[in-house]
Amino acid sequence: MTKILLVEDDDTISQGLRYALEQDDCALIRTATVAEARAALDRESALEFDLLLIDLGLPDGSGFDVCRYARSKGDAAVIFLTARDDELNTVFGLDMGADDYVTKPFRIRELQSRIRAVLRRHSGTAVTQLPGGVRVDTGKAEVTRGGTRVTLTALEYRLLLFFMAHPGQVLTRSQLLSGVFDAGGSFVNDNTLTVYIKRLRAKLEAPGGPTLITTVRGLGYRLEV
Ligand code: CA
Repeated sequence: MTKILLVEDDDTISQGLRYALEQDDCALIRTATVAEARAALDRESALEFDLLLIDLGLPDGSGFDVCRYARSKGDAAVIFLTARDDELNTVFGLDMGADDYVTKPFRIRELQSRIRAVLRRHSGTAVTQLPGGVRVDTGKAEVTRGGTRVTLTALEYRLLLFFMAHPGQVLTRSQLLSGVFDAGGSFVNDNTLTVYIKRLRAKLEAPGGPTLITTVRGLGYRLEV
């Protein structure tokens, strides 16, 4: 049984989520404001939530406030529910220790698969070492290279996590596109993917250092381990 705190002011979304997640063997407590969420975190401390699903735009504040408060109380996994316009804000969310995000409107199945992935990462070893002194701490959503903090955007980080879930395996461009970008992301095309991979390499591979992401001509890309 996965214990989830939902913080979402939209009744329709909340009801849909409750129905789907309870089918999925989750116990859901729903709150609609920052104040209610804080009260639930105080009240239910013994219950120990496994996961928080937090809408960014709440009537009395931001989902970041809830995330910050939850982080001060425990280490539940956090997924943000964001509007398309919040895309850039999710970078700060991941910086604050959120584990992932989904962009509205999302398909419930997509959210369910993200929940499973996040909970799996959360219960497993948080730190992964990659070639070139790259260290990824998924518990803190923190990436360092040679001990220096590397700042990734939300999508760059998600791309890296997707590679890490398939270490040493060749991933085709379409696998990467469907695995990393939201279903509704029609603005994402092949060129966007090329740009993201290039940026990720520039941030993580030291000049003259080992290759982290190898291009496999005609097939796709592979994360070296
Ligand atoms: Ca909202």
